[in-house]
Amino acid sequence: MRVDDLIEKSRDGSTLSREELIYLLGFPPDSPETYQVLAEANRVSKELSGSRAEVHAQLALNLAPCPSRCLFCSFAHINDVFTEEIKLTPEQAVAYAKQCEADGANAVFVMTTAVYPFEEFLEISQEIRRNLKPETVLIANVGDQSLKNARQVRDAGYAGVYHALRLREGTDTSLSPEARKESIRNFQEAGLEVGTCVEPVGPEHTNEELAVMILYTGSFNPSYSGSARRIAICACIRLTPQWS
Ligand code: SF4
Repeated sequence: MRVDDLIEKSRDGSTLSREELIYLLGFPPDSPETYQVLAEANRVSKELSGSRAEVHAQLALNLAPCPSRCLFCSFAHINDVFTEEIKLTPEQAVAYAKQCEADGANAVFVMTTAVYPFEEFLEISQEIRRNLKPETVLIANVGDQSLKNARQVRDAGYAGVYHALRLREGTDTSLSPEARKESIRNFQEAGLEVGTCVEPVGPEHTNEELAVMILYTGSFNPSYSGSARRIAICACIRLTPQWS
């Protein structure tokens, strides 16, 4: 196996196999082979985007301890970071969304924790949509949804969602991997774009796990994908301007 051949194979539009991905992931981060792969990824990215970056801004409708046991998430109640719920009013949510728009965001993401009331999410979302320019793209970042709910998300004015099957879903989280996948299918069937990532990558994840997830994210033709590493937070998150 050679890196040159695998890059050539991907240029031909072929999907790399699990073994080929594991081979590429196996090079040290500072090796010539890794830089070769990064350069090719950069080339593809610039070709697809016309060398134009997008700025995505996210506001959270609530900050709250979440009953889902995602070990890597600061909202998970077991991590004891957030002890009480704080919610934005519709007026505050609209103000933050308009600020994101005015600051030049290409897409405004609206996030909630997994148990945020769905009806409330829809109502505030419609209010946000009414107050943004028609061309401003709205993206939802919410929990798993049925097809019926996915259609309501679309009807509330969203162009898409961010949704991911996370690494070690069902082991490091209390959510069902099947439910995550089904939600992604529901969102797409409802006509929503789905953005995703291989996440949250940490030192414990093997190249085999990463390869399997890379193949999965590619399999459903997301509107974008990437990788996101896990980032440790500190107590200062409680003092961000949005909530202070
Ligand atoms: S479901 Fe979402 S908000 Fe809740 S703990 Fe998991 S990642 Fe965090």
